[in-house]
Amino acid sequence: MAISLSETTWQKSLSQAIRDPRELISRLNLPQELLEPARSGAHLFPVMVPVSYLNRIEPGNLDDPLLKQILPVELENTDVPGFETDAVGDLKVRSTSGILQKYHGRALLMVSGACAIHCRYCFRRHYPYGDEPRTLAEWEPVWQSLQADSTIQEIILSGGDPLLLTDIRLNALCERIAVIPHVKRLRIHSRLPVVLPDRIHAGLLEMLQRLSEQGTMPWMVIHVNHPNEIAADVEFAIKQMLQAGIPVLNQSVLLKGINDTTETLIALSEKLVNLGVIPYYLHQLDRVTGAAHFEVLEEHGRKLIEELRTRLPGYAVPQYVREIPGEPHKTSLLG
Ligand SMILES: *Cc1c(COP(=O)(O)O)cnc(C)c1O
Ligand code: SF4
Repeated sequence: MAISLSETTWQKSLSQAIRDPRELISRLNLPQELLEPARSGAHLFPVMVPVSYLNRIEPGNLDDPLLKQILPVELENTDVPGFETDAVGDLKVRSTSGILQKYHGRALLMVSGACAIHCRYCFRRHYPYGDEPRTLAEWEPVWQSLQADSTIQEIILSGGDPLLLTDIRLNALCERIAVIPHVKRLRIHSRLPVVLPDRIHAGLLEMLQRLSEQGTMPWMVIHVNHPNEIAADVEFAIKQMLQAGIPVLNQSVLLKGINDTTETLIALSEKLVNLGVIPYYLHQLDRVTGAAHFEVLEEHGRKLIEELRTRLPGYAVPQYVREIPGEPHKTSLLG
C-alpha cells in the first residue's frame, strides 16, 4: 500500500478550510449579492468548507448540488412550524453524559463536537456539543457503564465527526473499547472520508486493522448525498478502507434541489456500488429549525425509491427511513 499521507497532512487541510462567507463567494465566482444573505444565514452556524470539497463545485453555478449543501442562505433564519432545534430527541435520551442510548444493543458515543464541513441541513446544527466530555478522565464513567452493560455489542462513534479526533485520541478510544469483551463492533459515522479524504491515512487504517485483530470489527459509514462529491481523492480513500478490510456503507439525506431526482439517486448508487460501498440509508430530512427549505415530501421520496427498485439491483437501493423522536430504531417509509 503506497500511502504517503500522514496525520499532519489532514490537519493542514483542515486548517485551510474556508470559514469566511466572503472568501467562499469570491473563490466560487458567485454574485456579490449573495454575500449579505450568506452572512446572515451563517449567524447561528458558521461557514466551513474544506478546499478539496470546494474544488468539486462548479464556479458560478448557483444550482450546483454541492454548493447548496454548504452556502448559507437567508431562509435558514425562517421559523417554520414543525421544525425544532432538537429534531430527533437527542437531548431526552442522554444517560451518562456522552452516550446516547436509544438503539437496542448499540451505544452511540458523541466523541467530537466539531465537523470539517458545515452542512446547512444538519440535524445537529443546534446540538450543545460543549456539554460532552472532553478529557480522557472525563470519559471514564462512560467506559464503566459500557463495561457493565453486556447487552451492548456495538459502539457507534458519532458527533460531530469522530475522525476529527487525532490518531492518539482515537487510539486511546480503540484500546479502551478492545478490552470490553461484549463489544464486537465499532462503527464510525464520518463525513471525513468524503470531505477531507486525507484523513484516511496509513496510521488510521492500521489502528482499525489492529482493532479487528483484537476481535472488534470496524465498520465505516460515510455520508455522500450527490455523485459529484465522489472525486478522485475520495475514491482513493474509499479503496484504501476497503483494502484494509473495513466494510463501508453510505448514508444520504434526501435534499430538495440536490438529490431529489431518480437520475441523481441512480448515479449516486451506481458510483457507490462500483467502488464497493453499500448504499445503506436514504434519510428523510430531520425537521430541524433552519432546514425547512431542504425538505422533500415523503410521497415523492417513496416514488423515487420505487423507481430505483425497477432500475438497480436490490443491494444498490438504500432503505428510505426517518428518525422519529423516542423510537428505538429508524422507521421505514416504504410501509
Ligand atoms: C439511526 C442512527 C444510528 C443507528 O443506526 P442504525 O444503522 O439504524 O443502527 C446511529 N447514529 C445516528 C446519528 C443515527 O441517526
Ligand atoms: S458532517 Fe454530519 S454532523 Fe457535521 S454538519 Fe455535516 S451532516 Fe452535520
